[in-house]
Formats: sequence, structure tokens, C-alpha cells
Amino acid sequence: MKQINGEIIAVGTELLLGQIANTNAQWISSELADCGVNVFYHSVVGDNLARVTAAFSLAAERSDLIIVTGGLGPTEDDLTREAFQSLSGLDMEIHTPSMDYITTFFQSRGMDMTENNRRQARVFTGAEVIPNEVGMAPGMVVTYQGKTWIFLPGVPREMKQMMKQFVIPQIQTWIGGTVLIKSTVLRFAGIGEAKLEDVLKDLIDAQTNPTIAPLAQETGLIIRLTAKAESLQQAEQLLHDTKEKILERVGAYFYGSDEETLEHRVAGLLKAKNQTIAAAESLTGGMFTEQLISIPGAAMICKGGIISYAEDIKRDVLGVARETIEAEGTISAACATEMASRVRELLQADIGIGFTGVAGPDTSEGQPVGTVYICVTNGTRHHVEKLLLQGGRNTIRKRAMIKGFEILMRYLED
Ligand code: ATP
Repeated sequence: MKQINGEIIAVGTELLLGQIANTNAQWISSELADCGVNVFYHSVVGDNLARVTAAFSLAAERSDLIIVTGGLGPTEDDLTREAFQSLSGLDMEIHTPSMDYITTFFQSRGMDMTENNRRQARVFTGAEVIPNEVGMAPGMVVTYQGKTWIFLPGVPREMKQMMKQFVIPQIQTWIGGTVLIKSTVLRFAGIGEAKLEDVLKDLIDAQTNPTIAPLAQETGLIIRLTAKAESLQQAEQLLHDTKEKILERVGAYFYGSDEETLEHRVAGLLKAKNQTIAAAESLTGGMFTEQLISIPGAAMICKGGIISYAEDIKRDVLGVARETIEAEGTISAACATEMASRVRELLQADIGIGFTGVAGPDTSEGQPVGTVYICVTNGTRHHVEKLLLQGGRNTIRKRAMIKGFEILMRYLED
């Protein structure tokens, strides 16, 4: 398997101004990873001849394969070709089939073609031209001083079409053999990132193939395993073996792989038990129910929810006892328990869940921001947890919702 070190350069001032995100580089990187190309650099450079030339010159020193997107259009600030010409000294010529295509495009629409439009049909002498089936400017592959340069339009649709039809198959032949990259995501709950990394430190330090990448996401902790192999079976075996080693140590916190998110796991458990759920949500404002209903087939497991944000709604609509609120406050284990119990009864569900807490920015009922109570009940067994969550208002709300799924999952697993 040949090793190719790749680099992606995106040209366009609008990228530097933050008007658009460099999604081209992200997409190309993921495609190159799938082919087995090592991508070591991404650069973004504005529409400035000297700076684009400098970026090209740097890339020429350090990469075997350089993919450039953008700056192939008709206007004066599209100067990718000029920059590469100033680096390489290669001549340019009009590519007749592209010119004919552009001319026909304008004629068939009864539009005047300006001299500028001819600029788009220029290619380097000796370049391999990549036809543009969805736009104007052709792409090209240029071999210069042993390096391969691929120039593609900035428009994502045009770039992707050229990559898929032309560039990727070529790269696969250069690399030789089939290199397959397969990833899997392992999902964990109830363990912090630092602890997880500590327990797996020797495995993470020794990682080569598969790579082991722990990542704290908003929705919880994941480990991404990525294996490179010559066959799917081999890649799957590598992933399986590493997964086993990891689960030997932290299997107690593992709940699902890949698309099996917390809410999917909870939905699966409810389905398996043939049970339904209803939620009474205060600070989460319906997020929990929304998340559950986003899962196909939710009708079988989710009865609905009541957003009981104000105190009088908790009391008059949900039916939390006045005495409970007076004695314990709305931010209390007792209130969360009554919320879960009442919503369960009102909506005739098997399980009820209640969320109450202080999302901030101000404290409430003398309780600090981030104090959250969550209760899950089946009518006889209540499980209440008090949490102290960190973050701004909406982070606390979201974390409370995620914690709700986590607590519910453990409750259903018991
Ligand atoms: P055209 O031939 O259509 O003028 P071009 O090769 O000159 O294309 P640019 O003018 O640089 O490309 O970009 C055209 C449009 O494509 C941009 O306005 C932007 O919407 C999108 N685009 C360019 N570069 C990127 C990028 N790196 N990531 C995402 N979108 C991009």
C-alpha cells in the first residue's frame, strides 16, 4: 500500500472573512481518509496572488498530493491559475471542449458572453482536464516536479462531482490495492473524560491501528475507533478486538455503538418491555419529549408530556400538591417526584419522568444555578437524583435532558 501525504488548500477571501465555512476541506478530507491518503494540512488563503503563490510554494515542499479548491471562476479575483503559473512557469491554453461548452451555454440562453468567461476555459499545457458536468470551469490534474496538483472549482456541488467521478478513482489506482477505512463509535455514560482516558491510557498511548480517539461531546462521551485494512472483514476484526479490550475495562459505562444514542437505547428498552412513558418538564421545556419523539416508532412508547414551567401549572394542571410546594419548593426532590407521578397518571403511561431545576442566570428559591432534580417512577418505585450541572442557561437545560435519558436508561436496565 503506497503512502500518500495530502494537503488541501481552499482559496477565497469569503472563507477568511467567516462568511462561509470551509466545508470543502472537511468533505475532501473525509473522502481522502477513506482512500487511505494521509491528510496533514488544511490551509485557507484569500484572493491575493502573492499569498496564494506562497501557500502553493509551501505545499509543494511538504505534500505529495495537493488539492486546491476555488478561484477558477471568470473574475479578476479568481487567480488560482495565475498563482500556480507564477510558481511553476507552466503555459496555459484554452481547452476547446470546455470553451465550446461555455459558448453553447451562453448562446442557448441568449446571453452575451464576455471575454472574462473565456478565462474559465484555460488549462495548463499537458494537464489532465476534469470535465465540469454541473458548472463552467473545468478542473485539472497537473503533475509538476513529482507532485500531483488537483485544481477544482469552489462550488461544492461541482467539486464533489469531480472528486467522485474522477479524482477518487484515480487516487485509488495510485495507492494500489484497496485500502479500506472503517470507524465505529463507542458510547459511554456515567464516566468522565479524564477518568476514561486514565483507565485506557496505555491502550491510547500504544494505538496505531485502529486509532483510539476519546471525545467529550455535548451528548456524552464517545470513543471513535478507526481501522485501516485491506478488506472489510479485516477492518471489522481489528475494530472488534480493540473494542473488546476497551470494554474489559470500562464496559460498565458502555451503552451503545454508532447510531445507538442514549435516546435510541431508552426507546429500545421501553419497546422491549412494552412500556410507555410520559414526561413533566419544567426547565427542559419539552426537550426530553421532543428528543424521544424524533425517534421513528416513538408512538409505541411515548404518550406525551406536559411543560409545567410556571408554579401554578405544576400545581393546577399537573396536580403537584400545594403543601409540597409550600414545604419543599418547586426545586426539590419532592416536587420532581410528584411531577413524575402525576404526569404518569394523567397521561396513563407506565413510566413517568419529572424535571425541575434552576437553569439560571439567576438563582431560584435560594438554590444555586444548575441545581436539577430528576425523578423516574413506575408508580411504586421512585428514583430521584439531585444534580449540580455546570454551564450557561441552555447548556444546563440540555445537560438536564441528557441526564434524564441516562437516569431513565439505568432505571429501565435494573
Ligand atoms: P466559479 O467557477 O463558480 O466562480 P470558483 O472556482 O471561482 O467557482 P469560488 O469563486 O472561489 O470558486 O467559490 C464559488 C462559491 O463556492 C463560493 O461563493 C462559495 O459559496 C463556495 N465555496 C468556495 N470555496 C468553498 C469552500 N472551501 N467550502 C465551501 N464552499 C466554498
